[in-house]
Amino acid sequence: MNILDTMNLSKTYGEGENKVEALKNINLSIEKEKFTAIIGPSGSGKSTLLHCIAGLDSITSGEVILDGDDISKLSEDKLSKLRSRKFGFIFQSFNLIPVISVYDNIVLPVDIDNKKVDKKYINSIIDILGLKDKINKFPNQLSGGQQQRVAIARALANKPEIIFADEPTGNLDSKTTDEVMRLLKFCVDEYKQTLVMITHNDKIAKMADRIITIADGNIVESK
Ligand code: ADP
Ligand code: ADP
Repeated sequence: MNILDTMNLSKTYGEGENKVEALKNINLSIEKEKFTAIIGPSGSGKSTLLHCIAGLDSITSGEVILDGDDISKLSEDKLSKLRSRKFGFIFQSFNLIPVISVYDNIVLPVDIDNKKVDKKYINSIIDILGLKDKINKFPNQLSGGQQQRVAIARALANKPEIIFADEPTGNLDSKTTDEVMRLLKFCVDEYKQTLVMITHNDKIAKMADRIITIADGNIVESK
C-alpha cells in the first residue's frame, strides 16, 4: 500500500535565463512501512524532491497525495500541523538548543504538540543510539557525531508516520552510520514507520526495500 504518491510533480526555480527545472513530471509512489532510498548524482534533484514531498518546499505543478489528500493545496498553517504530527525530518545540520538538556532537546517536538511522551519508545531510541549516559548533558558537551544522534532522536520522538532523511549519515564515521541505520531499520520494522532517505552510500541504498534513481530531474530507475 502507498502512503504517498506524486502525480506529474514539477518544480522550477528562478525565471528566464536563471530558470532551473529541478523536477520534471515526477510520478512516484512511496510504499507504507517500507524503506525507500533516493539516489542519483549531485544536482539531480534529490533534495528538491524530498523537500517537495515533505511539504517543506512549494511545488510548481502537479500533486502530492498523502492518505488521499493533495497536501500541495493545504494552507501553510494546516501543512505545518501535518508536518509536526506525521513527519520527522533528519538533515545534516542539527540545530540543537544549547540551553536545555539533551533529553529535553529530544522530547521537544512532543512537548510542543502537547502529546504524552511514549517512554518505552523514546528509551529504545536513546538506547540504540548509545545516548543513555548523555541525556542530562548539554549539547555543547557532546561531540559532533553525538549531537547528530541527538538530532536524529529528536526527529523520531513524535513517532512520525514518515521519516524524511537527507543524507543523515553523510558526515558520520562508519560505526555511527551503522548505529543510525540500525535505529532507522528498527523504526521501520518494529514501529511500522515509513522511511524515505537520500543517500550516496551504496551499502545503505542496498538496505532499502526500494531504490529510486534520479537524474536531471527525472526518475530514471525504480527497483
Ligand atoms: P541534489 O539534492 O540531487 O543534489 P538539488 O535538489 O539540491 O539536487 O538541486 C537540483 C537542481 O536545482 C540543481 O540544479 C540546483 O542547483 C537547483 N536548486 C536547488 N535548490 C535551489 C534553489 N533554492 N534555488 C535555485 N536553484 C536551486
Ligand atoms: P545536497 O547536494 O547535499 O543535497 P545542495 O548543496 O544541493 O545539497 O543544497 C543545499 C541547500 O542549498 C538546499 O536547501 C537547496 O535548496 C539549496 N540550493 C541548492 N542549489 C541552489 C542554488 N543553485 N541556488 C540556491 N539554493 C540552492
